[in-house]
Amino acid sequence: MPVSPETIADRVALVRERIERASRHAGRDPASVTLVAVTKTHPPALIEQVLATGVADLGENRVQEAASKVETFRQSGHDVRWHLIGHLQRNKARVALGLFDVVHSVDSLRLAETLDRQVREAALSAERAPDSRLPILLQINVSGEASKEGFALPGGCANKPGLEALLGEIERMVALPGLEVRGLMTIAPLVEDPELARPTFRMLHELRDELARQVPTVHWNELSMGMTDDFEVAISEGATLVRVGRALFGER
Ligand SMILES: *Cc1c(COP(=O)(O)O)cnc(C)c1O
Repeated sequence: MPVSPETIADRVALVRERIERASRHAGRDPASVTLVAVTKTHPPALIEQVLATGVADLGENRVQEAASKVETFRQSGHDVRWHLIGHLQRNKARVALGLFDVVHSVDSLRLAETLDRQVREAALSAERAPDSRLPILLQINVSGEASKEGFALPGGCANKPGLEALLGEIERMVALPGLEVRGLMTIAPLVEDPELARPTFRMLHELRDELARQVPTVHWNELSMGMTDDFEVAISEGATLVRVGRALFGER
């Protein structure tokens, strides 16, 4: 991917323009799409430049790597919302809770149950507000790629037995008092042509609409989908959170 603009500020401006254009083209309000700058592998000095442009949402995919960055920016008084976008091991759930404002990558009922228990324990020991809930998204693998994390639902809603099984797990997750389910997340297959990611994004959107019908107690507002190579297609399919790394920071 060519990274022609010289400064990070220029690149953020370009990505914002692209988000705006894609939103308007889809008849959507650009304000309905949040840019999550994916900062994995990048040092605080670069991240600082992104924050200076007004970006307030940062994504990391590893607890360990995020820990020092979160600490750095807390100390400097920055108001950042940290998004966990990578697979979370259950034994790191407690640490993750102390770092992240939202977890996009809840990929099993067991992980959800662990997070819920940790939220409630943290509340008991006054590390969290008594009634606080952790916002989460459910990561769904609709493309059927074996390499992808997530609740497996190859084929999306058309997969009736898969949908029934997922609904059973979702009923249990939405009942967990320490969690607040806010929507869905997916990672599209790596493809040359971003148009080829469209069916994946469309399936996630259709699944969201189906869940909104079947589990109306939850506000299924968020669709976290789209990365550097395909975020415009994702926006045209309803993304509310786009996770962009390389278009801002260059190749990793
Ligand atoms: C790294 C990563 C991104 C950002 O990818 P880019 O191609 O650099 O934009 C988005 N989502 C997840 C889950 C990632 O791990």
